[in-house]
Amino acid sequence: MNLSGFDFDESAKKIIGTLDNNGRIPHAIVIESKDKSKALAAAKFLSMYAVCISENRPCGVCAQCHKAEQAVHADIKYAYPEKKSKTYSIDQMRDIAKDAYICPNEANAKIYIFEEADNRLSVIAQNSFLKLLEEPPQNVYFILLCENAKRLLDTILSRCTVITLKSSTSFDETAVQNAKNIVNGILSSREYDLLLASNSLCDKEKADETLAAVKLILRDGMAVLSGADAVFDAALGKSLAARFTNGKLIEMIELTENAKIKITENININLLTTWLCGEYRRISWQR
Ligand SMILES: [Zn+2]
Repeated sequence: MNLSGFDFDESAKKIIGTLDNNGRIPHAIVIESKDKSKALAAAKFLSMYAVCISENRPCGVCAQCHKAEQAVHADIKYAYPEKKSKTYSIDQMRDIAKDAYICPNEANAKIYIFEEADNRLSVIAQNSFLKLLEEPPQNVYFILLCENAKRLLDTILSRCTVITLKSSTSFDETAVQNAKNIVNGILSSREYDLLLASNSLCDKEKADETLAAVKLILRDGMAVLSGADAVFDAALGKSLAARFTNGKLIEMIELTENAKIKITENININLLTTWLCGEYRRISWQR
């Protein structure tokens, strides 16, 4: 699989690379990502891989690759709900099932890409899809994009290879709000504010993302101090810069990173929160 020259970050390259099994990709793939454009780029890449005729696939320059990249390839179909509908109809799913058994037009493969599959595939539509996924026609590939794979039926997921691509820029909204509250807590003169804000870390699923966002906000403080623009939160970046030295911000970033690691080690979250708040306070108030 030729991933060089494609605009994926290293972790995405690694994950997409795992899909290559002796020159073939799995016939059914679920790509989960909060970043829709990233998931779509991966789906496009895989469709290029499936239709490319060069040795080093996808080459990115042959006619097949070009058409795949422009999303105009006759054998790569993007499924869209019919007008005014938010979901795929059963008729549409039936048409796709029929179409999948017709030979490709010009490539050696046929690919169906379903964007927002977790929103647009109703339970009935998913059930009608099962048989096709179980016994897919030769050289036919299905790629389902979604924000949250858990919203798809287990019976669908068990028939698919699921990959998760981390979004580099987009964070879960709740996690971002939690992070802002924590930074406001650090800035507050009342100890209670920070403790209260840190309570959101009890939501373990979001804790990792929350702390990642805290780190980015703290970095904004450093950016403002050095005369650069804040990238994540301009207002908080400014407040941090007005209050703390560069050294203190670095200390807090390292502390946050440590807390992130501790969460993956399954530490008691209440203890971790208490420790983290204490350390933030210590760093803020020490001379
Ligand atoms: Zn090519």
